[in-house]
Amino acid sequence: MQLRIPGPTPLPSQVLEAMTRQMINHRGKGFAELINDLTAKLKALFQTKDDVFILTSSGTGGMEAVIVNTLSPGDRVLAVCNGFFGERFADIAEVFGAEVERLRFEWGTAVDPQAVGQALKKDPSIKAVLATHNETSTGVTNDLASISATAKEFDKLVLVDAISGLGSIELPVDAWHLDVVVTASQKGWMAPPGLAMVSVSQEAWQAHAQAKMPRYYWDFTKCKSFLERGQTPWTPGLSTFYALAASLDLIEQEGLANVIARHARVGQAARQGVKSLGLALFPEESCASNTVTAVRVPDGLDVKKLLQVLREERNLVLSGGQQRLEGQIFRIGHLGWVNEADIEVVMRELEIALPQAGFTRGGQVSG
Ligand SMILES: *Cc1c(COP(=O)(O)O)cnc(C)c1O
Repeated sequence: MQLRIPGPTPLPSQVLEAMTRQMINHRGKGFAELINDLTAKLKALFQTKDDVFILTSSGTGGMEAVIVNTLSPGDRVLAVCNGFFGERFADIAEVFGAEVERLRFEWGTAVDPQAVGQALKKDPSIKAVLATHNETSTGVTNDLASISATAKEFDKLVLVDAISGLGSIELPVDAWHLDVVVTASQKGWMAPPGLAMVSVSQEAWQAHAQAKMPRYYWDFTKCKSFLERGQTPWTPGLSTFYALAASLDLIEQEGLANVIARHARVGQAARQGVKSLGLALFPEESCASNTVTAVRVPDGLDVKKLLQVLREERNLVLSGGQQRLEGQIFRIGHLGWVNEADIEVVMRELEIALPQAGFTRGGQVSG
């Protein structure tokens, strides 16, 4: 079965095998060596000199950790939203008592940094900007460098969901002055689900010292003091740590610049392939993501049928649209362990399945 969804992704055999390793004492020397090695490698891949923590959680837990460690109830927050995951980040802040202003952009378009500047100018009481690096629901990569530069002009904290972008698309955390950035193991990292990785800047630590949102499991102070002893506050998902160690070895061997270049080639191949099948991209091509391609569902195409035929007859799993995009788009995940040959397979299968789901090139609807 070929899994081409935007996480979880297929795993190389070295990563799968790493998960068969026997358990160790998470308060022992062996684990300390493991977490210290992982943390050093992640810092290099985040391109940060500040702290990086590994949380046993899916990405959303990491997003919650970002919020509760930096904000207090009543804080004003600007959430820049251009898709489902931007809305989720805003929802989390709201649940914990932040006063959230949502600056929305049409789904399929990128966030306009100028509009962010205008919103910040209008409301000086805003403390933090919530941004999504790569909006997985619409297949859009935002211009995070410009969003951050704008937020920093106004001296705001920049909190980033980079769950499906970091490690696959260029994102130098320190150079872009990003305060807290979260990603998750099952996206571009060639690792199984179960870990969120988060960086914390000096400015974020200052905010953390004042932050009063309730937190217990997610506490960066505890993360830091335990990491000094080579531990995590709570029992870590050991098997996923083993797997991540194996996948980071592979990423290190390939080199971050090569990994990013590979995702750029694969993204380009996916967009080209979709267009040559006679389909249209959902997002504006100028901001189309290199880790996930969202395809507009044309008239006549029964997308549910398409995904079913691919899954049941062609052994290929693609994703549908989320929430209001259900039935409007389908998505091809191409992050992590993926190359151009995998995209060729996807396009070949699509070419076979599309007519069975009512779409033929040229736009006619077939029987
Ligand atoms: C996948 C994803 C999430 C959610 O991560 P989970 O691991 O499912 O909790 C959040 N934001 C973005 C951008 C994602 O791609």
